[in-house]
Amino acid sequence: MSELCQACGRDALRPHLRVGTGAGPEGLIPTTDRFGSALADIVRCAACGHGQLERLPTEAELSTAYAEAASEDYVEEEAGQRETARRTLERIESRVEGRSLLDLGCWVGFLLAEARDRGWGARGVEPSTFASDYARDRLGLEVITGDLLEADLPHGAFDAIVLGDVIEHLPRPSETLDRLAELLAPGGVVCLILPDAGSRLARVMGARWWSVLPTHVQYFTRGSLEVLLRRRGFEPLHLATAPKAFTVRYYLDRIAGYSPALSRALVGLAGGAGLAERMWAPDFRDRMLVIAAAPAPRG
Ligand SMILES: [Zn+2]
Repeated sequence: MSELCQACGRDALRPHLRVGTGAGPEGLIPTTDRFGSALADIVRCAACGHGQLERLPTEAELSTAYAEAASEDYVEEEAGQRETARRTLERIESRVEGRSLLDLGCWVGFLLAEARDRGWGARGVEPSTFASDYARDRLGLEVITGDLLEADLPHGAFDAIVLGDVIEHLPRPSETLDRLAELLAPGGVVCLILPDAGSRLARVMGARWWSVLPTHVQYFTRGSLEVLLRRRGFEPLHLATAPKAFTVRYYLDRIAGYSPALSRALVGLAGGAGLAERMWAPDFRDRMLVIAAAPAPRG
């Protein structure tokens, strides 16, 4: 096997889950309901437990897919995303003094809008044209449309950098962390929110876990993420589960990936009972939030 483990850097990858669709780069459709499929089979590192695709897609293939990403679903779920964002910001605020925030992969900008309301100077980068236009035009946010790692940003300027549901999409996460270290101010922190492939739910569900998706190329566990962070000089400060708040309708719609008929029946029942629009933040314990301190300046 030619690839090395993207978390620990060792040559210890072994076959794990057979989920490759053979669809090629055109299968790279950002989505939340095509779980159980990936661009290639998933291999796992015998040394640190990290999972990744057997063949990692190129940056160019990914850029095209993300630039074209658009989803009205995520705009409709605004209340839930803002609620989740406030919880995330509370955790960051308790661990950093300064108030300059960068959201890399900010999508339509709900976290940035909440941060601005709480007194942060807030900037974002987002590859999707649809989502970055929304952030600027509807929410009046300072958002660059572009590649997460190549956007022109000042070095040493940010007290907190958030990557929400981003790092699991990146073929070279160690290079991403090095870039974050350049952008962070002394004493700054990164906040990573991502699926936890080492969680009980992920292990029980295997290929049917809802975070096995065509655009996910890394499958971090708590352990493998910590290994990667420390290898790039970051110091983990806080690790927790990261439930997402959504309406009941959203969760029931997602069940369609398993059973369309069951999903329709449940949405009908919930609608009839007046439950469908109720906010819900179930903690399946299969998502994690990690806050880590920037590497100490060298020399
Ligand atoms: Zn490893």
